[in-house]
Amino acid sequence: MFTKILIANRGEIACRVIKTCRKLGIRTVAVYSEADAGARHVRLADEAYCVGSAPSRESYLRVEKILEVAKASGAQAVHPGYGFLSENEGFAKSCAEAGIVFIGPPVEAIRAMGSKSAAKSLMEKAGVPLVPGYHGDDQDPALLQRQAERIGFPVLIKASAGGGGKGMRVVEKAADFAAALASCQREARSSFGDDKVLVEKYLVRPRHIEIQVFGDSQGNVISLHERDCSAQRRHQKVVEEAPAPGMTPERRAAMGKAACDAARAVGYVGAGTVEFIASQDATFYFMEMNTRLQVEHPVTEMITGQDLVEWQIRVAGGAPLPLTQDQVPLRGHSIEVRVYAEEPEKGFLPSIGALRHFAPPAASAHVRVDTGVEQGDVVSPHYDPMLAKLIVWDETRERACERMLQALSEFRVVGVGNNVEFLGRLVGCDPFRAGQVDTGLIERERATLIPEAEPAPADALALAGFAVLASEARVRSTSTVEAHSPWALADGWRLNGRLRRVLAFKTAETSREVTIVHGGSGSLEIDGRASSGRVDADGRVRLAWGDARLDGHVVAHGETLHVFAGGRRWSLQRLDPLLHAGEDQEEAGGLAAPMSGKIIALVASIGAEVEKGAPLLVMEAMKMEHTIVAPANGTLKAFRFALGDQVPEGAELVDFEKAAS
Ligand code: ADP
Ligand code: ADP
Ligand code: MG
Repeated sequence: MFTKILIANRGEIACRVIKTCRKLGIRTVAVYSEADAGARHVRLADEAYCVGSAPSRESYLRVEKILEVAKASGAQAVHPGYGFLSENEGFAKSCAEAGIVFIGPPVEAIRAMGSKSAAKSLMEKAGVPLVPGYHGDDQDPALLQRQAERIGFPVLIKASAGGGGKGMRVVEKAADFAAALASCQREARSSFGDDKVLVEKYLVRPRHIEIQVFGDSQGNVISLHERDCSAQRRHQKVVEEAPAPGMTPERRAAMGKAACDAARAVGYVGAGTVEFIASQDATFYFMEMNTRLQVEHPVTEMITGQDLVEWQIRVAGGAPLPLTQDQVPLRGHSIEVRVYAEEPEKGFLPSIGALRHFAPPAASAHVRVDTGVEQGDVVSPHYDPMLAKLIVWDETRERACERMLQALSEFRVVGVGNNVEFLGRLVGCDPFRAGQVDTGLIERERATLIPEAEPAPADALALAGFAVLASEARVRSTSTVEAHSPWALADGWRLNGRLRRVLAFKTAETSREVTIVHGGSGSLEIDGRASSGRVDADGRVRLAWGDARLDGHVVAHGETLHVFAGGRRWSLQRLDPLLHAGEDQEEAGGLAAPMSGKIIALVASIGAEVEKGAPLLVMEAMKMEHTIVAPANGTLKAFRFALGDQVPEGAELVDFEKAAS
C-alpha cells in the first residue's frame, strides 16, 4: 500500500481524493498554480508545491514539473483526478518511467480509448453496438460531407480527441455542413491540438446512460451499475442520477455486459466509464469510454455504499476488486447536481469574482457536498467554473428529488452568479419529477427553467428592511442584535411623534419601498405591521412580522441585498435617490467583451454592411466560444483587436456604425 500520494489536480476532485487518502492513512501532496496558492486543496493536503503560473498549460499540465515534485516529495503514486492530465497517455507513461504508479488504467487502454474514432473501430470488433456513422481516417471535407448525406441529417460532427462537450456540432441540413465542419475543426485544433473528426447520426431525444466499470490487475472486470446523465446543456452534464429512471434488471445486465466487454477489449484496470447513448425505444449504442474517475461518480458511491477512490488506490496497489459482480449492492436512489458559477439568465455565461458568501447545505446521511472552495475564495477565469457538487440519497427517486429540492433551497451563494435556483427549477419541473429525462429536456423547458425575473414579494422586502436597520444599528454586542435596541435613525423624521423612514429598493427592474415606523419604547412597524426579530452573524434573519413568522437570510454585497427565504432568492438593490440621480440608463452594449478572453476568429470584414445578429467575431473565454454579433443593421468600421489578442472584460471590441433607420 502507498504511504504518500500526489494529487495532480485542483478543486473539488483534489479535495475529494485527499479525503479518502486521509481515511486510509496516506499522506497527500498537492500541487497548485500561483492563482491557487490559497486554495482549499492546498489547505487540506499534508504538503503542497507550486508548479507554475495560473494558466493550466503552465502549471497543472506540466508533466515534467509535476513528476519532479512527486519524486522530490517521495510520493509513490499520482492520482490525476479528472480533466487535466487524467487521460493523457504521455503522462501515464512518464509516471511509469519515473517509477511512480499512475492511479488509472494502463497506458495502452488510455491510448485505445483516447480517440473516439479509434475506440469506435475497436468496439465494432468487440461486438459492442455503435451509433451509425463514419469514423475513418480519411478527413477530406468532400468525403465527410458525402458520409453525412449517407448517414442522413441531422448528423453530429465530433472531434475525435474531444471531451467535456467541446468540439461538437449538430448539423441539420447539407447546406450547413461545410461551415459546421470548419468551426468544429477550429475548436478541436485549439482545444485538443488535433482536428480529426467523426460523423454520427444525431439521435433525437436520446438518453445518456453510462456504466461504471472497474477492472483489477488479476483480470477481473465488473460493472457498478448505471448512471443517467441525460439532463444536459450544450452536451454537458448538469444533473446525474443512479439508477436510471425506468431501468429494468434485464437492460441493466445487457448494458453492464456490453460495458465490461468494452473494458476487457482494452485490458482495462481501474475505474472507467462506458458511455452509451440510448434511444427512446431502449436500444443503446456505445458513445465513448472515459478512462478515469468521472465527475458524477458520487451517485454510484451512494447507491453501492462503496468508496471508488479507495478502490482505485487499492487496485493501483495490486489488490483484487473487493467485490464480485453479484455482490455489488444497489440501494435507493441518488441524484447529483453541478453547481456552477454562471448566469443562466445571461446564456449561462461563466461568472468570476470573490465568493462573498458561500453556504452549502449541511452534510448528513442524505446530503453530500463535494467542493473545492470556501467563503472568501476567488473564482478565477483560468479554470472550470464548477463551485460544488451537491449529492443526495434516499430510498426512492421521488424522495431523493424532495431531498435535492430541500438541499438546494438551503444553498446560498453571493458574489458570483450561480445556477442554484435554475437547478431547483430543473429538479422540480414536471418531466424531471416524472423521470422523463432526455438530452433535450433543458432546452425544451427553457421558459420554465429561466423565467422572467419577478419583483421580490412583500415578506422578502420586510426581511431586507429589517436587515438594513440591524446593520445600521451597529449594536452587534455578541453575534445578534435585538429589535428592541435603540436604533440610530439619524435621518428619520417625525410623524405624529414617531420616526418614519422609507427604504427604496430596485427588484427585477421595479422600484419597491419599505416603510419603517419606529414608535416610542422600542416598538417597530414594517409596512404597517408590528415587527420584532433578530439577525445572526451569518445573515440569518428571524422576524415576527404581524402574524407572520419569517425566517431567511439577508447578505449584503455592495449596494445589493441578497434575500434567501422559503427556497427562493432575490436581489434587492438599495436605491438612494440622492447618490444615484441620473445614472440609470445603461450602455447599449453588445460590442464589449462579456468577460476577459481571447479573440479566436474575426468573422465579418471591415467595411461590410451587416444585418442585426450577424456574427462579427468570436472570442474564447472560460473554455467556451462566444460569438459577438451586430447589435443592429449597420457597418463594421474596424476591429479594435487582432486575432489572438487577449482582451479584458468590458473592452470595446469593434467600431460599429448603425445604419440610419
Ligand atoms: P464528450 O467527450 O464531450 O463527453 P460524448 O461523445 O460523450 O462527448 O458526447 C457528449 C454528449 O453529446 C452526450 O452525452 C449526448 O448528450 C450528446 N451526443 C453525443 N453523441 C450523440 C448522438 N449521436 N446523438 C445525439 N446526441 C449525442
Ligand atoms: P464527465 O462525464 O466526467 O463530466 P467530461 O468529458 O464531460 O466528463 O469532462 C470531464 C470534466 O473535467 C468536465 O466536467 C470538466 O469540468 C473537467 N475538465 C475538463 N478539462 C478541464 C480542465 N482543463 N480544467 C479543469 N477541469 C476540466
Ligand atoms: Mg462523454
